[in-house]
Amino acid sequence: MNSSYKYLFGPVPSRRLGRSLGIDVTPFKTCSFDCVFCQCGCTTKLISERGEFVPFEEVCAELERWLREDGKADCITFAGSGEPTLYSRLGELIDFIKARTAIPVIVLSNGTLLHRPAVRGELLQADIVKVSLSAWDEASFQKINRPALGLMFENLLAGECAFRKEFPGELWLEVFLIEGINADPEQVRKIAAAVAGVRPDKIHLNTAVRPPAEAGVQPVAKEKLETLCGLFSPRAEVIATFSVAAGSAGELGIEKVMDLVRRHPATAAQLAQSFGVETAAILPLLDDPRLQTEARGGETYYKCR
Ligand code: SF4
Repeated sequence: MNSSYKYLFGPVPSRRLGRSLGIDVTPFKTCSFDCVFCQCGCTTKLISERGEFVPFEEVCAELERWLREDGKADCITFAGSGEPTLYSRLGELIDFIKARTAIPVIVLSNGTLLHRPAVRGELLQADIVKVSLSAWDEASFQKINRPALGLMFENLLAGECAFRKEFPGELWLEVFLIEGINADPEQVRKIAAAVAGVRPDKIHLNTAVRPPAEAGVQPVAKEKLETLCGLFSPRAEVIATFSVAAGSAGELGIEKVMDLVRRHPATAAQLAQSFGVETAAILPLLDDPRLQTEARGGETYYKCR
């Protein structure tokens, strides 16, 4: 992929999504949450008001160019280093893509704005929407997600439930578990009860295997996560690994690596797996001064400075 794209990244090979072209429509790191576990670091712009943060026409022009020059991906995913539903023209962008390609559109959202009917309406054209729910009441919500002023757990849950009723596509839900904060079975039972009310098609359990915003955030052991899956209905699936499969090496270069670690800190082995190359092919790129390392779980993770 041409590194001159500002708003598009990838396509990134993913075990669940295949080759996913990412679209990032919020500046780093504009979000309605400041989750303690965020792998992009602390939120610098904590807001719940929507805006046209990046010029709509420029994003459309990049999409047109990508469709013309490459156009091969299994899905187009709104993701990145912030909350995509904060982008005020998200619905128009989804319509723009849908009018030009049959590639499925996926939106990864924290769900905070779904209590607004207009935001729910904009997402109806997507094929898959993935939301998150990692708390069970207002206190746990404030502690884990640290939302923008005025956002409440009650509204988050009500918004996700309302969206389920209206959305004809696949609704996935991610629960992020942190040891010592929301991963005791009793706490997870309460989260599972809230999730049951949303009625997602799939439930994913994640944990802090990659460096989080707050240093004290501890991952849940894999075996424990597997056990906790059974508390959810439908049974949850653990996704707490670097969810990528070997893909085509393509033209591997530092800009591709930067595009990926800017949004997902990764080890050399994970990057190699992501790009479908030997680890030795990745190592020389990792000396780039724009990268820094962080040790976690006995592994060295690379991320942007
Ligand atoms: S994990 Fe997602 S929702 Fe939470 S702060 Fe990071 S980007 Fe925002």
